[in-house]
Amino acid sequence: MAMFQPILNGKNSKTFLTPSKESKIPCPKCGSKLIERVGKRGKFYGCSAYPKCRFIVNGEPLDWSCPDCGSMVIHKKLKSGEFYACINKDCKFKQKAEEKEAS
Ligand SMILES: [Zn+2]
Ligand SMILES: [Zn+2]
Repeated sequence: MAMFQPILNGKNSKTFLTPSKESKIPCPKCGSKLIERVGKRGKFYGCSAYPKCRFIVNGEPLDWSCPDCGSMVIHKKLKSGEFYACINKDCKFKQKAEEKEAS
């Protein structure tokens, strides 16, 4: 007798399996891959070596570095638009996402 049957009618399958998306970008602190996580305040990227390494960024890491200081640049989605921003708190680098198109 089948006591339990997997609920596989497509629509519900999303709720129990949410694989974290791995980015190609290594953690600037330890070199592990950064992965997409979902927290109380929305999506963010964190180090896959967590909790050993607690590096997190609140945007999607990009594979180019800040022209001003060489730190990691992330893709941020704000109400005012999409931006590329440097993760270095001492660096003011920030650019509208559209402007990066043609390089
Ligand atoms: Zn790390
Ligand atoms: Zn910078």
